[in-house]
Amino acid sequence: MSDTSASSLAPRLLIVGPQGSGKGTQGARIAELFGIPAISTGDVFRAHVRDQTELGAQVKSVIDAGDLVSDELTFALLRDRLSQGDTGTGFLLDGFPRNLAQLGLLDSFLAPRDEPLTAVIALDVPREVSISRLSERARIEGRADDTDEAIAKRLEIYERDTAPILEVYRDHGIVCAVDGVGELDAVTDRIVRALGERGITV
Ligand code: AMP
Repeated sequence: MSDTSASSLAPRLLIVGPQGSGKGTQGARIAELFGIPAISTGDVFRAHVRDQTELGAQVKSVIDAGDLVSDELTFALLRDRLSQGDTGTGFLLDGFPRNLAQLGLLDSFLAPRDEPLTAVIALDVPREVSISRLSERARIEGRADDTDEAIAKRLEIYERDTAPILEVYRDHGIVCAVDGVGELDAVTDRIVRALGERGITV
């Protein structure tokens, strides 16, 4: 009988990295390769702002200033999204959890379902590279939260509140650290290889 344990880990993934690390782009690519939904809380909020929903009006000024939306509100959105049928074979989270409190909320949702995260992709990018990529994106996309002030605040929040979640996941032994500097395809290949080494294969 063949041993299928090496290929049996479902891709329940989280991608973490500072703003400008390319996590949105790489997350979308990895999700597509694995045929799982990429769930970005930032994208969900931006869609609400764009569609001028009540929630969008509530969170617009917070997002534009580079601050975080409340843990409860963000988690409520995420829980609804994770409860949809297309997450059965796996999912890739981008942007949640962003602090230790959110990590606890996510755990309290996934643990009773017996569906813990199977890998956390940590994209390593030096601060100067993040800043120059964000400034470039500001020129191209004109995102309201890509002003110098909002960028600085978001990087500060990342270092203070988000980076510590990696320590917790490291203790769980599920972090794949990947060098995020280089061509898009090269970084994607590195991530796929790192996941493969953990038994998470396309
Ligand atoms: P992102 O695209 O992930 O950089 O998210 C853009 C903005 O959406 C953030 O700066 C926050 O204002 C908000 N946001 C996204 N995810 C979260 C989260 N997990 N908790 C709180 N706010 C969030």
